[in-house]
Amino acid sequence: MTHMHVAGSLHADAVSVAPQWLVKPTDVNALDRNLWSDSTTRRESGELAIGGLSVNEIVAQTGSPVYVMDEVDFRGRALTWRRAFEGWHVYYASKSFLCATVARWIAEEGLSLDVSSMGELTVALRAGFDPARMALHGNNKSEAELRLALTSGVGRIVVDSSDEIGRLERLTAELGVRAQVLIRVTTGVEAHTHEYIATAHEDQKFGFSISSGSALVAMVRCYHSPQIDLVGIHSHIGSQIFDTNGFEVATRRTLKLLAQFREATGVALPELDLGGGFGIAYTSDDSPSTPYELAKGLSEIVAHECRAFGMDVPTLSIEPGRAICGPAGTAVYTVGTTKTVEVGGGYNRRYISVDGGMSDNIRPALYAAEYSAVLAGRSSTARPVLSRVVGLHCEGGDILVRDTFLPDDVRPGDLIAVPASGAYSRSMASNYNHTPRPPVVSVKDGKVSTLVRRETLDDLLALDAGIAEEDR
Ligand SMILES: *Cc1c(COP(=O)(O)O)cnc(C)c1O
Repeated sequence: MTHMHVAGSLHADAVSVAPQWLVKPTDVNALDRNLWSDSTTRRESGELAIGGLSVNEIVAQTGSPVYVMDEVDFRGRALTWRRAFEGWHVYYASKSFLCATVARWIAEEGLSLDVSSMGELTVALRAGFDPARMALHGNNKSEAELRLALTSGVGRIVVDSSDEIGRLERLTAELGVRAQVLIRVTTGVEAHTHEYIATAHEDQKFGFSISSGSALVAMVRCYHSPQIDLVGIHSHIGSQIFDTNGFEVATRRTLKLLAQFREATGVALPELDLGGGFGIAYTSDDSPSTPYELAKGLSEIVAHECRAFGMDVPTLSIEPGRAICGPAGTAVYTVGTTKTVEVGGGYNRRYISVDGGMSDNIRPALYAAEYSAVLAGRSSTARPVLSRVVGLHCEGGDILVRDTFLPDDVRPGDLIAVPASGAYSRSMASNYNHTPRPPVVSVKDGKVSTLVRRETLDDLLALDAGIAEEDR
């Protein structure tokens, strides 16, 4: 769920200083199994351990902060999605987190891959990912991106605008190749998620509108285009969605569009991609459906609607991103300072500043995303206090975990772990305040491997043309 905090804590009063959904834990050391990667445990010693290593051991090897990816958990989720959606194409949405090793894991677990930029496409190609199993997204694909996709044999291009169709017609003619395309459509579904991650209502930048008729026009144009093979349509209603209602409506409207196309041309298009956006648990308040529940629900809707339209069931695809990498990743930070602030009504809030922040996880600042945190390097017998985990950046909105209960005795040097940090953290990270980005490591069987190394100040200085090489 996306909890909105319009007024924020400035208006906190005696009743609402902690958000209603947040439950005070009876045991501040307990781990909510829904939030943590499978191998995460709290040892007898009190230390949090992931992949057979305590966070203290991990940080001794990697430094802090660090993103820790549980390899077995990641692969297990990928495989579970593929198995649950047997007979479907399951594309991993690489924008949630991609590096060469992750592209190989995805290939080994038998999934396909979504890419949406030159960078993602290049990483996947360099990792040796089969281009035929890739789909290229984007509302403003450059000519260079389209050229690379066409010459390397990317399996599906998800077309988003008339300009792009024109560009594809020109490039396929010039290169003497064909393009297999899906038309990205907007179904008019108002997904119950934050505005910035909702993508199927009418007033936003993605796709062709079904209701205005422009989707059907684009389909017919591609169908008649000599070097474009129109394979089907694509709908993505948004991200971090729990309510299957939205998927149901989108499925109905996209199938209806396929039926209309068949009426107009006599041709039944073979593919329907229903996108991603399946929600995960960031806090104990979130309860996502399992992949098996979703597969059953979506398959039933598709079968029902296809019967109603007298159509064969098309080949179906989904594109989970965060649901695979999100829960597999944990961010580990070190506490630098703590502060207790009066918020009115006789209530206090503990501010815990860590050695990262909005540069390594922009989601709370960008769309009020909620997270949870625990004291990770040790356990505590102190009472739980309402705490806010904040970063080191020069912004009041530099918040990592807006509301969580942490032990009263959290102090400088303690490690704090934030679960469900594998998606849209490193992939959206910035260098704000000239902060080098943390590394991503994988852990498995008591071993740490680097997926993406820590950025250094030298990496950043190397970009600054005003600093001579010998002065760096
Ligand atoms: C972002 C995106 C996804 C993945 O979203 P998640 O919330 O990570 O599952 C899938 N498909 C498209 C087209 C997207 O833009």
